[in-house]
Amino acid sequence: MTAPGPAGARQVRVAVVGGGLAGSLLALELAERGLAVVLIDAGSDGATALSYGGVAWWAGAPGPLGGLIRRAPAAWHRLEARHGPLGWRGCGLRLHGGGWATPLLRPPFAQVDSTVLMAALPGALAAAGVARRRARVVGPPRPGSGGWLLDLEPGPLLTVDQVVLAAGAGCRQLAPGLPERLRASWAGVLTLQDRSNLPRSPPSRWVRHAAACRIVQPRRWQRPALEGGAAALQEERWIVDAGFAPWGQGLLLGQSSLVRPGLAAGIPPAAAAMESHLRRGLAGLDPVLAALPGPFLQVPVAFCIGAVPLVGPVPGAAGLWVFSGFGGAFAQVPVLAPLLAAAITDGSELSTLARLGTLPG
Ligand SMILES: Cc1cc2nc3c(=O)[nH]c(=O)nc-3n(C[C@H](O)[C@H](O)[C@H](O)COP(=O)(O)OP(=O)(O)OC[C@H]3O[C@@H](n4cnc5c(N)ncnc54)[C@H](O)[C@@H]3O)c2cc1C
Repeated sequence: MTAPGPAGARQVRVAVVGGGLAGSLLALELAERGLAVVLIDAGSDGATALSYGGVAWWAGAPGPLGGLIRRAPAAWHRLEARHGPLGWRGCGLRLHGGGWATPLLRPPFAQVDSTVLMAALPGALAAAGVARRRARVVGPPRPGSGGWLLDLEPGPLLTVDQVVLAAGAGCRQLAPGLPERLRASWAGVLTLQDRSNLPRSPPSRWVRHAAACRIVQPRRWQRPALEGGAAALQEERWIVDAGFAPWGQGLLLGQSSLVRPGLAAGIPPAAAAMESHLRRGLAGLDPVLAALPGPFLQVPVAFCIGAVPLVGPVPGAAGLWVFSGFGGAFAQVPVLAPLLAAAITDGSELSTLARLGTLPG
């Protein structure tokens, strides 16, 4: 269960379940603190790979978390200094809707290009000494042999000292007793592989913004209100926040969000219907963008009602941790991962996490 350390010292072995933004950045932080880390990922259905990756460090968050996320740009710079380019780029943000003054608002913005991030992470993790395993953890981790047992598919039983659930929308299945504020939605986007194919005629200012690698978003996002009201839903609800973001050489156009009553994301929504809702929403912004070919893809996204994520020990299960349910993950994860890694390593930042309100208990 334990691996020998550099000088023969006992090394704590931690399994991080989920290889998206949360699991990967946490694995890097744990490895930096000398723990033996294995990152287990099923290799499908991740939100990170389809994310706009916008880093709204100025947009606020409930309570003291708002102050912490202001450090997100510095945290990304530090990550890139240690692990090489991860996709950070300053980029323009243009807002639409919400009155005549909206076009005057040009908040500072940055993006972590999710295609660059996903391509860079395997090398960064390997260089940091993180072992990677392509497998699905089937069912909740079980206590045993002084640590935790994980059933993998494919693969034999894995025994480790500690487990971190960073599996996004998959966390609920692995720990059904997690607080009810952790939910999951379905997000849908049109994916375009090559921006150079954008039609130039008829002329459109939104296509010009897309060609200039700017992110375009509505002034008033509907998604936070949809998530905030999830506990009161009697039936499924969807909304469209029309906008787009550069994505490697291509473009992500979105985004539809569907939330169901209850704690689980459930099966993917009917793709044809959601694509049609999305295209209608985009047509309100620009019919040229609404007619782009796609394809349309959907992924489940974990969120927390109240926008404060779950970061900390799972109550009554020593050595089991959760890291999920972010609201603005690209600003929250890089500043919260070092705190959780410190708490796992020696308990040192548990009081900070308690002050931030992220503890699941
Ligand atoms: C279209 C879109 C736009 C977005 N825009 C922004 C934005 O601009 N800014 C922002 O901050 N956030 C944005 N988000 C949200 C953000 O992308 C997510 O909150 C974040 O990527 C979640 O990261 P994660 O690591 O927690 O989860 P995920 O990226 O979903 O990763 C979870 C991983 O766990 C794995 N997994 C699940 N269950 C198991 C299991 N049982 N065993 C093994 N592996 C498992 C999955 O395969 C997956 O790889 C956007 C999301 C979408 C979809």
